Amino acid sequence: LGRRELRPEGTVVSIGPAKIGDGSVAIFAGPCAVESSEQMEDVARAVAGRGVVGLRGGAFKPRTSPYSFQGLKWSGLEMLEEVRLKTGLPILTEVVDTRHVASVAEVADALQIGARNMQNFELLREVGAAGRPVVLKRGFGCTVDEVLGAAEYILATGNDQVILCERGIRTFEQATRFTLDISAVALFKQRSHLPVMVDPSHSTGLPKLVEPVALAAVAAGADALLVDVHTQPEKALCDGAQALRPSGFRELVGRLEMLALGL
Ligand code: PEP
Repeated sequence: LGRRELRPEGTVVSIGPAKIGDGSVAIFAGPCAVESSEQMEDVARAVAGRGVVGLRGGAFKPRTSPYSFQGLKWSGLEMLEEVRLKTGLPILTEVVDTRHVASVAEVADALQIGARNMQNFELLREVGAAGRPVVLKRGFGCTVDEVLGAAEYILATGNDQVILCERGIRTFEQATRFTLDISAVALFKQRSHLPVMVDPSHSTGLPKLVEPVALAAVAAGADALLVDVHTQPEKALCDGAQALRPSGFRELVGRLEMLALGL
């Protein structure tokens, strides 16, 4: 269902008023995890109006260690709803459990399937049926074919509002958190009609690499970027080490604008 030949013009995914896949570059920004109402509002106000079409923030965090912060869960979801009301920014948030899908879909404008759940096929079916746009993140041990196969599970529910997200894969390289597979960005565009997002934050794990990798992603054809931004990264409860400060984020947007204008 996702093969390019079936829809050569490409699919446009609508999240709130934003159109992902329409030729522009859509940016989703925000903290890795929702930590408090104030934190969400501070970040939202810092990024709003800077090319940002939606706010990211995890209320349910699937962490490698069960002893790490697992997210504020339902109260985090309430905070996301609050910040949307205050700022008008659409919300993209992860869903980790089939039993949560309907409730998370009531609040979220788009549902994220995290790398660790890319092949949780029951979850894919459930989010597909929820009727919300879905951002499908690449499992870090999964091939391009496996990503496309996972997308089929969602498409098969009749929901074509799917965005493929390249977020890096595991390689022997230790200098970055994961290795962003830039050729996958071009391959997804060539083989699928779905829009492609790139997450330069989770892939590199390094704020200094977010901008160059984001620029490379756009040059390779990415339709959207998913960027971790935190007003106080040093105090973040989750993945603060990879988050941009608002000033760094503004610089990134400036560079992207220059790229778009060919300056
Ligand atoms: C995230 O985007 O919040 C996240 C946990 O990313 P990933 O699933 O790609 O690790």
